[in-house]
Amino acid sequence: MDTRADVGAIGPNAGQFVARPHRLKSIAGWRRQTGGVVQLTFDDGPFPIITNQVLSLLARYRTTGTFFVLGQQVRRHPECVKQILSAHHTVGNHTQTHPNFNWAAFNAPFRELLRNQAVVTAATGHRPTLTRPPFGRVTPGFLLAAWRLGLKIAGWTLDSGDWRCRNERDADVCASELVSEVRAGDVVLFHDTNPYLPRILAKVLPELDDRGWLKRNGQPTSCSTANLAKVTGREPSRTVDCDVIPAVSG
Ligand SMILES: [Zn+2]
Repeated sequence: MDTRADVGAIGPNAGQFVARPHRLKSIAGWRRQTGGVVQLTFDDGPFPIITNQVLSLLARYRTTGTFFVLGQQVRRHPECVKQILSAHHTVGNHTQTHPNFNWAAFNAPFRELLRNQAVVTAATGHRPTLTRPPFGRVTPGFLLAAWRLGLKIAGWTLDSGDWRCRNERDADVCASELVSEVRAGDVVLFHDTNPYLPRILAKVLPELDDRGWLKRNGQPTSCSTANLAKVTGREPSRTVDCDVIPAVSG
């Protein structure tokens, strides 16, 4: 069970589990120009027993997400992060050990991000270009560190509250709150450390699929369904082949 949930940026509760942040939105959120799709993001892994189930569910719906991994987890499970990348998901830097930078030295974020970059690159040959601070805490030291390492900062617009789930009933309530609260363009925060996440996703993904809000493999996040229709002159299919370009501000 993840007890280090990203609680720093939670705003007024939208429900028992789901919440919208307010602080991060303007400074570090993915823009809401995500082309009418929902960005699915998974923090604190890889944690194979759960991450593998998440990967299977995403594959079933032919969609992709972004995994903000911890360097210490990548060191333990390098095969898992390779699997994430080989399934065309994005891997972002969520630091090495998930510290709270509010109580850390100014240059601690640089050391943490650098170690993560080194571990992920050594394990996979892939160098992350996105980062998300633990607990969503964007301190001045974090901003500078991200800039020095060429990392774009990615926040979220909807916290699933999966980290609050303690049993299957919680997971079901969490899933139904998510389904009613989520909007096209949202960036949703999940944790692939929570054992109830697969149950939540199994209920949420079909709803997002029905609404046409799932990002399709290879489809750019900055390219709307309408734009794709304009470009291709036809309704976009699930096999539209473009580069994935995460739209990030901050
Ligand atoms: Zn985290």
